[in-house]
Amino acid sequence: MADKRDYYEVLGVSKSASDDEIKKAHRKLAKKYHPDLNKDNPEAAEKFKELNEAYEVLSDKTKRQKYDQFGFAGVDPNYGAGQGGGFGGGFSGFGGFDMGDIGDMFGSFFGGGFGSSSRSRRNAPQRGQTIQQRVMLSFEEAAFGCEKEITIQRTENCEECNGTGAAKGTSAETCSNCKGSGYITQSQRTPLGIFQTQSACPHCQGTGKIIKHKCSKCGGTGKTQKSCTLKVKIPAGIDDGQAIQLRGQGGCGINGGPAGDVIVTVSIRPHPIFTREGYDVVCEIPVSFAQAALGDTLQVPTIDGKVEYSIPEGTQPGTVFRLRGKGIQNVNGRGRGDQYVKVNVEIPRNLTHRQKEILKEFEATTTDENQQQKKSFWDKMKDAFKVD
Ligand SMILES: [Zn+2]
Ligand SMILES: [Zn+2]
Repeated sequence: MADKRDYYEVLGVSKSASDDEIKKAHRKLAKKYHPDLNKDNPEAAEKFKELNEAYEVLSDKTKRQKYDQFGFAGVDPNYGAGQGGGFGGGFSGFGGFDMGDIGDMFGSFFGGGFGSSSRSRRNAPQRGQTIQQRVMLSFEEAAFGCEKEITIQRTENCEECNGTGAAKGTSAETCSNCKGSGYITQSQRTPLGIFQTQSACPHCQGTGKIIKHKCSKCGGTGKTQKSCTLKVKIPAGIDDGQAIQLRGQGGCGINGGPAGDVIVTVSIRPHPIFTREGYDVVCEIPVSFAQAALGDTLQVPTIDGKVEYSIPEGTQPGTVFRLRGKGIQNVNGRGRGDQYVKVNVEIPRNLTHRQKEILKEFEATTTDENQQQKKSFWDKMKDAFKVD
């Protein structure tokens, strides 16, 4: 049933054939395939059955009209029950209904409503497929920009037939049934008025073209799947989750439509030292207790390499200093962010006996002047618990 032949094709007549022509064609073929005359040919019985089915429909005015309008679904209540697609804009869904007068009404309503949708206009130009791809970058690649290669699978026009689907030396013919439009329009007079029904042409399945000799490479589809490698320019400053659009690099267009795009979304690998906040770079730098107390010149890593930065005497833990312009290039091309460096004071561990002695000696010499926070805290405590 899936490969059911068009009834006109079975009888070898044109869509506009007169009743007389249909009768003559049936008589001629019935003789040829009659089972009594073809005892050695098992295929003839099938042909004969097919022939009678076609004749039964095309010789009946009402049935023929329904067939013209809805395809097999219009004349066979079981047609389409087990197969997707069918002819026309979703008419196979009505296969289970009795296509009586009510069926006609439904057909008209839905035909008018959905028949003009793009589903039945299968020969309308359509944009090719959009292809999504991810690319992984290092922190520096994102900061400074780079060029990456990606490999995608996309639909391209078949090289053998230049996308026509027709074998070399032949070409697709314009469908005579729909004159290349891919759909047929029928007006129907009903008690509610005249309804126009548009449905996909059953002869060309809505493509508007008939390919007699199919291209052997693509099987008549005109398309092939190809693996292809593209170079992607990643602009400096791109951030995690941002995407680059490669216009027209996606799947090729359908029926002369434009090609789709490739959307390359960027993922950035975390950096061991730097994190990013917008166009600013943030890092933490550990200093010793003595460096913080005495002040020191630090070697601070930046994305451009190391720079020197002097922290003053008495630098407190958590102090943040800013290196202006050491951040990331704005992806839109204007200026750079800053780098923020947070000082993390590391309290020494695993002290030797001698070190402990020195620290105890040091501690004994400290005054409130040395530990201002500590003094201020205990002053506040005294105030809080003071009894008037
Ligand atoms: Zn081809
Ligand atoms: Zn057609």
